[in-house]
Amino acid sequence: MKIRSFILFALSSLIIAECQAKIYFVAINGNDTANSGTLTAPFATIMRAQKATLAGDTVYVRGGKYLMAENQIARKQRIWAMMHLLDKSGAPGKRINYWAYPGEKPVFDMTNVKPLNQRVMAFNVTGSWIHIKGIEVTGTQVTQTGHTQSECFHNEGSHNIYEQLSMHDGQAIGFYLIRGSDNLILNCDAYRNWDYTSEGGKGGNADGFGCHPQPGSTGNVFRGCRAWFNSDDGFDCIRAAETVTFDHCWSFYNGYSTEFKNLGDGNGFKAGGWGLVKDERVPDSIPMHIIQFCVAVHNRANGFYSNHQPGGSYWYNNTAYENGTNFNMLNRTSDITTDVPGYNHVLKNNLSFEPRTYETQWIDSTKCVVLNNSFSIPIKVSKTDFVSLDQSQLTAARKKNGNLPDIDFLKLKNNSKLIDKGVDVGFKFAGNAPDLGAFETK
Ligand code: CA
Ligand code: CA
Repeated sequence: MKIRSFILFALSSLIIAECQAKIYFVAINGNDTANSGTLTAPFATIMRAQKATLAGDTVYVRGGKYLMAENQIARKQRIWAMMHLLDKSGAPGKRINYWAYPGEKPVFDMTNVKPLNQRVMAFNVTGSWIHIKGIEVTGTQVTQTGHTQSECFHNEGSHNIYEQLSMHDGQAIGFYLIRGSDNLILNCDAYRNWDYTSEGGKGGNADGFGCHPQPGSTGNVFRGCRAWFNSDDGFDCIRAAETVTFDHCWSFYNGYSTEFKNLGDGNGFKAGGWGLVKDERVPDSIPMHIIQFCVAVHNRANGFYSNHQPGGSYWYNNTAYENGTNFNMLNRTSDITTDVPGYNHVLKNNLSFEPRTYETQWIDSTKCVVLNNSFSIPIKVSKTDFVSLDQSQLTAARKKNGNLPDIDFLKLKNNSKLIDKGVDVGFKFAGNAPDLGAFETK
């Protein structure tokens, strides 16, 4: 075969391979038995669509409310009831996509799903190379009064993307991970989730986002996500054996009901931590988490919290406002027996403004790298540094592509003394140096 005809052959094979990726549709008026999953004859359920898919295929989920019923539970296994079980994997470069149909909003309403003595997972994703986008889950229930939890999205696979998902007004954790590597949770919102059923109804089990990877589950990243009015914490990676990254995420009003009644722990970002007793789960090498360009506002307890972690984390360019304590670096000794001031943390370019009680707590600056934070340099932050202190902007609608909205809240005025007061931590910045806090002034 001559080179030119070989190239033509290769190109046409490639095009044929591309064309083989199929598209399926799921709609409220669909039918799993009579229909073949086309636009005009859609399936009724994602579970039926999964059966049809191969790596590289896309399932478009049409808009509207999918009122889920208990007889639709895909699998009941021991203590769990999985409404959806996405256990079919895509392949590298050929994810299976479950996407909201462009311009439409599919809502999975779990209100009526109350399996006795079982934990509910609205979506259990055990497959890998899956991309879920634009789906809303609401009303996920907790049915047990003892220690338990339910979850909107539960990940066990790797290389998955969770994008523009919205998990709200339920009793469940929004997103939860204990195993799986290199997952990206992008531009998702978890809000008004309060477990008022279990353990006295204090809501201590419902975080917005929970990420607790076991050893070997590396590279999980949360980017552009928001968590508010979740009854426990906004973002929580207690008992994470591997590094978790929180990048450009906002966490506010967690640990409260919408009437600001005190509920669970109420931390904006809970970076790590272990129980009081050293057990086999504590890894030999304690991970350093990465929390950067994040915003924590008026969480019940701490904005940024090290939570008795037996080691340090990286805290870069975060902004904390009106939290009980804005930055609390409380650590434990390596044998997990004694609380001590935070050690091995790297804190750079962070901005603390008007905490309800403390700017910082538990930082042993002789054992940490503490550079150019508003609380570690002689500078006084005041209202006049900010363009706006209007907190309502935090819940503004996202951009069309799902990115966080452009807001003025906590952005620095052009003449703020906090501009260019940071140190270079390897990210792009404007002017002569990075600014303090999460928003760089152009
Ligand atoms: Ca928690
Ligand atoms: Ca700058």
